[in-house]
Amino acid sequence: MTVNTQLLERRYRLLGAGAPLFYNEPVHIVRGEGVWLYDADGKKYLDVYNNVPNVGHCHPRVVEALRRQSQTLNVHSRYLHELALDYAERLTGLHDDPLSMAFIVCTGSEANEIALRMARQATGKQGIICTNCAYHGNTTAVDELATYFHGGTAPSPNVKAVPFPDSYRPLDGLAGEALAAAYADQVKQAIDEFEQEGSGCAGMLVCTLFSGEGLPNVPPGYMEQVVGHVRAAGGLYIADEVQAGFARSGEKMWGYQLSGVTPDIVTMGKPMGNGHPLAGVVAGPDLVNGFRERVMYFNTFGGNPVQCAVGMAVLDVIEEENLQENCRVTGEYIRDGLRSLQADHELIGDVRGHGLFIGVELVADREAKTPAPLEAKAIVNAMKDKGVLISNIGQYDNVLKMRPPLPFSKDNADLLLSVLEDVLARRNWELGKL
Ligand code: PMP
Repeated sequence: MTVNTQLLERRYRLLGAGAPLFYNEPVHIVRGEGVWLYDADGKKYLDVYNNVPNVGHCHPRVVEALRRQSQTLNVHSRYLHELALDYAERLTGLHDDPLSMAFIVCTGSEANEIALRMARQATGKQGIICTNCAYHGNTTAVDELATYFHGGTAPSPNVKAVPFPDSYRPLDGLAGEALAAAYADQVKQAIDEFEQEGSGCAGMLVCTLFSGEGLPNVPPGYMEQVVGHVRAAGGLYIADEVQAGFARSGEKMWGYQLSGVTPDIVTMGKPMGNGHPLAGVVAGPDLVNGFRERVMYFNTFGGNPVQCAVGMAVLDVIEEENLQENCRVTGEYIRDGLRSLQADHELIGDVRGHGLFIGVELVADREAKTPAPLEAKAIVNAMKDKGVLISNIGQYDNVLKMRPPLPFSKDNADLLLSVLEDVLARRNWELGKL
């Protein structure tokens, strides 16, 4: 497809040239269905990137729930209505005890903003710990945690960034529980610094699958140790499920359940409304009631009946179409295929992830583990040209990120793998085009 320069120029004029776009040659998408996207020329793309349309693009069940409720009523949440309560009950019912109360909001950023406010109020402390390759949203307070965009450091005295747990490039060359302890020590040091500075530790906020970090294999016992240190200092564990949640890990509904450590606060977003702006926070009654007593928190669009009807339909589809199990089985199948490709291609240093959230770390040299970000970018663009949409992430932008809608089938997986194999085989001339 040739790039629509007229559309690009309008976009620059109206939204600014800095408004981000995917791919060297941006794609003009006009329709979506299931795991497929279609451009203005009718070219079909396999979507292996978008987790927001979690149950598939334009799922008829979700579209119908939205249509039906918006024909009847859509109004903010300061009137009594069953749907907000039905949805809050269903959502909290999917979480571990004691996470039994909810805020329903519109974006992941808002959800994390509430979590930070709640943690700081409840603990009376200010310091927040995040990783050195994190993104949690775009509000002023949450942006202080966006270390991915701030060169690995936090641009605020109230936030400290610690190295993310990584078994591929391990701290001090350690492994297993010793590695977990070494990373946990870094958290302990950050807590001690907060104590010395007088701000104290209000909590630690992490994505439970460390998605922006490149989906590292987390050494065993890491979360237990880290959360142990944070709670001993009076802080809270805030789990960001904006990317990891809603069955994507295949093994569990929530990423935090993989470690077995129940958070104090959980934030959710992206896949929650299948594209409709729906996000949320769950926490225990002490935290939520304490916050509600002190803050008149209100959100105009959060908790409206249309949003809740959509959220309910998304949960219905996840259950009825057995999507968590599909995620587990298909995700494993893809990782097996990727490991076979790894045997033939030196460039693939590591294959990892959970369910349908997959990371493929590319390295120029397997021994030295030299990151290969240019190759990653070239492969992402070459796969797009061949009709498969993926992306790249990680500390060095060298991890191929695959995160398709959950109804991804084995046939879809075969197509993904064969296109990747083809692109890897043509790697040299593709790189020459950069
Ligand atoms: N947390 C994580 C882990 C995210 O990936 C994102 C968005 N990329 C957010 C929070 C922010 O969500 P939103 O864009 O809906 O504000």
